[in-house]
Amino acid sequence: MDYREVIKKACAEGRQLIPEYEAYTVCASFGIPYPETRFVRSRREAEKAGEELGYPLVIKIVSPEIVHKSDVGGVIVGIRDQEELRTGYDKLTAHVTEKLGIVPIDGVLVQKEMAKGVEVVVGGIRNEEFGPVVMFGSGGILIEVFKDVSFRMVPMEKEEALRQMEETQAYKILNGVRGAKACNLDALADLIVNAGKLLSEIPEIDELDFNPVLAYPDGCVVVDARMVLS
Ligand code: ADP
Ligand code: MG
Repeated sequence: MDYREVIKKACAEGRQLIPEYEAYTVCASFGIPYPETRFVRSRREAEKAGEELGYPLVIKIVSPEIVHKSDVGGVIVGIRDQEELRTGYDKLTAHVTEKLGIVPIDGVLVQKEMAKGVEVVVGGIRNEEFGPVVMFGSGGILIEVFKDVSFRMVPMEKEEALRQMEETQAYKILNGVRGAKACNLDALADLIVNAGKLLSEIPEIDELDFNPVLAYPDGCVVVDARMVLS
């Protein structure tokens, strides 16, 4: 699907939220890397997706009423085989109903599990005064505790994205601590620049959130994405 259709569909349905699997369609058009993902509506479809994608996998609940999926047990990582996929599928729904009662559930995402990396966040907002602004910072729980973030106005060059990263504590970790290899800063800078392009080129998007982005010595990948329309 073309990303313009994703936006059009959300507008037509009166939705402001572009959920993860649709957000990846937008990412694809802007060269933003993400894991192979299937949206399924039954256990049988999940098994089929598992066969196609190969293991290990991550499964995630898809519901218009759930924004922070792991808060309600809506993410299971480390699914190693079909048996774990089957039981995991049932567990996901059980977790969610246990926490929230009856909520609308659209389906489940079956996604390739990415290797462990340094977790960072790339975000964006449309500011009334400055226009589109991109954010970079520490990911995971660290972002909430330390508020380690840095902002830049769009459009921006890659050099500026590198300087933006340098302003954060995350930068030190990305450069490799305690003998760990340094992460590929160039790939992250590209991702930041592309997130800025996405915001400039799609005026309907008011907010975007890649949390987390996993960074590695040989690249980076977005493993959770959401966008909010104005
Ligand atoms: P939430 O809605 O709770 O933010 P996420 O999709 O971010 O849900 O998943 C929660 C956590 O699970 C992420 O912060 C990341 O650590 C891990 N995770 C999610 N997807 C993947 C993946 N494809 N590969 C590896 N780890 C993942
Ligand atoms: Mg997340």
